Amino acid sequence: MKKHNFNAGPSILPREVIEQTAQAILDYNGSGLSLMEISHRAKDFQPVVDEAKALFKELLCIPDGYSVLFLGGGASLEFCMVPYNFLEHKAAYLNTGTWAKKAMKEAKGFGEVVEVASSADANYSFIPKDYTVPADADYFHITTNNTIFGTELKNDPDVQVPLVGDMSSDIFSRPVDVSKYICIYGGAQKNLAPSGVTFVIVKDDALGKVSRYIPTMLNYKTHVDAGSMFNTPPVVPIYAALQTLRWIKAQGGVPEMQRRAAERAEMLYGEIDRNKLFKGTAAQEDRSRMNICFVMAPEYKDLEAEFLAFATERGMVGIKGHRSVGGFRASCYNALPKESVQALIDCMQEFERKH
Ligand SMILES: *Cc1c(COP(=O)(O)O)cnc(C)c1O
Repeated sequence: MKKHNFNAGPSILPREVIEQTAQAILDYNGSGLSLMEISHRAKDFQPVVDEAKALFKELLCIPDGYSVLFLGGGASLEFCMVPYNFLEHKAAYLNTGTWAKKAMKEAKGFGEVVEVASSADANYSFIPKDYTVPADADYFHITTNNTIFGTELKNDPDVQVPLVGDMSSDIFSRPVDVSKYICIYGGAQKNLAPSGVTFVIVKDDALGKVSRYIPTMLNYKTHVDAGSMFNTPPVVPIYAALQTLRWIKAQGGVPEMQRRAAERAEMLYGEIDRNKLFKGTAAQEDRSRMNICFVMAPEYKDLEAEFLAFATERGMVGIKGHRSVGGFRASCYNALPKESVQALIDCMQEFERKH
């Protein structure tokens, strides 16, 4: 039976990306060696890193003066590297969910942290809009897509201080005004590659401004100066990321990813709103296009386990909601074809007819 992969992360990748990476693992460029057994400094691996960086810059229209890095440690390590490198006195954070809160917690070890607004009291079902960012903050940290709660900031806020963005789960799904940011980061395992690599886009002249000592590996400057090759980078995930970047470009780039994301979201939210059995959990205007969260309507609450089993039998994978929201979460990342969304909608309609 065909599987429809709605996993939240690690998550669906284009089939071609998996095949090309599998092939390189068996035999890299006809060398008779596996991608897993060559040096990251081999002359035929450097072009992989170079092209991946170049495609990042091209696809996201990154202006001059920024570096693209591929690091280890996940987005979770960036929660600490960001304040290590940029927080001298004060930083502002928008508390929109579990990941935002974790980022904020790390920053508190480095200086004053101002939580400008929070939707914690409403179980993070919306993105706060009325807030003021202190003009003397070193940066304003946002989580552009809240993977767990299914809310999304669909544009880059206008504030007086530079932005830092956790874009783990919506990178390459909409155009970004990179010039507003000093740093954009994310774990690659949601929209780009298998787990093991973290992408970081950093503004070169924003570095070197804090007075503290920064351990070598946690200093962005180390990785900028070494072209992201200071130590052994995650070779296989970077290779897979390059295949995804080529795929995105061949499909029509970020505008096409954005169009597809809007199309998938419109289809699925349309069904959630129409179907009497289901109900969305996020505020309409903040609904994520990447992680679509919904629950059973109150009068059908006891059908939850039955629907999960019903959909699973029909090939839906990964739709069980995160425990902090409950119900269901359909993650609809860049590589998810709209046929999979249609298959889920068909399940919802068939289940409605049954009840
Ligand atoms: C998954 C996720 C993280 C954590 O990423 P790791 O690479 O596992 O550390 C952080 N932020 C967001 C928005 C996420 O979706």
